[in-house]
Amino acid sequence: MKTEPWLLEPHRTKEILQRYGIRMQKKYGQNFLTDARVPEKIVRAAQITGTDLIIEIGPGIGTLTQYLCQAAGRVKAIEIDRHLLPVLEETLRDWDNVEVISGDVMKMDLRRLTDGAGGAVRVVANLPYYITTPILMKLLEEDLPIQSITVMIQKEVADRMQAKAGTPDYGALSLAVQYYAEPEIAAIVPPNCFVPRPNVDSAVIHLSRRAPEARVQVEDPGHMFRVIKAAFAQRRKTLVNAVRNAAELRRKDGMPYTREQVEQALETCGLPPNIRGEALSLEEFARLSDRLKS
Ligand code: SAM
Repeated sequence: MKTEPWLLEPHRTKEILQRYGIRMQKKYGQNFLTDARVPEKIVRAAQITGTDLIIEIGPGIGTLTQYLCQAAGRVKAIEIDRHLLPVLEETLRDWDNVEVISGDVMKMDLRRLTDGAGGAVRVVANLPYYITTPILMKLLEEDLPIQSITVMIQKEVADRMQAKAGTPDYGALSLAVQYYAEPEIAAIVPPNCFVPRPNVDSAVIHLSRRAPEARVQVEDPGHMFRVIKAAFAQRRKTLVNAVRNAAELRRKDGMPYTREQVEQALETCGLPPNIRGEALSLEEFARLSDRLKS
């Protein structure tokens, strides 16, 4: 069944919200889409085909979901707010390729949701902003069989995800995302496309997942990410000082290296001893991590 999306026709969203007495829950990051051009852009950026299985996080009242149902083979939509379930029953009743799953995405076994997918599996969502980064890191780190992730997030977070070495937005989040995926901002979305309006601009970001063999080669990715975390915990300091301080603080995930060891590892990587973490590319962090370990 392929029906046209209808929730964004004038007054439909408002009428449904009023009829069900829905109050937007700030604690769940509820900013519902009200501009039809935005779900169209998201669907285009996600490159959805008719055989894809789409996992949507937070369908809300089903606005984006209707577009996903129209474009994809199947849709599984995970919603935490139980008050929205009867609304979704109504707004999605014209489609027989959608399953609404009630619960918290952070507590869910997402691998099970991908079982039995015939075609590509893609995550597409207008994410709740209060947990954008934990959701994306869960999706990337669990190494799920997902081809791509296309999500609306705060523009400022999207900028950090695709930032390159040496720029102000570059940091541990850029490196974590770029290790697992190739990020590309597909659209900027202003606050007036949502109800209620968020305080900041949003962006649609498309992450094409890298297969494990296409990632930067590093002996122990966990160790590399601890070096990265230490380097950016004090981003104004040199990398040597930041790593040494992390060791001195004896944090659980601190670095057990002396100044001399870090300087020596930098030298063997052909990097100056006074370099800051923000100047190193992902490849350079990988080489440094391997040198430190050896
Ligand atoms: N997709 C809808 C739209 O675009 O209009 C709603 C997007 S709204 C920004 C985020 C949605 O995620 C809300 O429906 C909210 O209830 C849901 N949500 C928040 N936290 C969640 C969680 N931990 N697990 C699943 N859904 C969640």
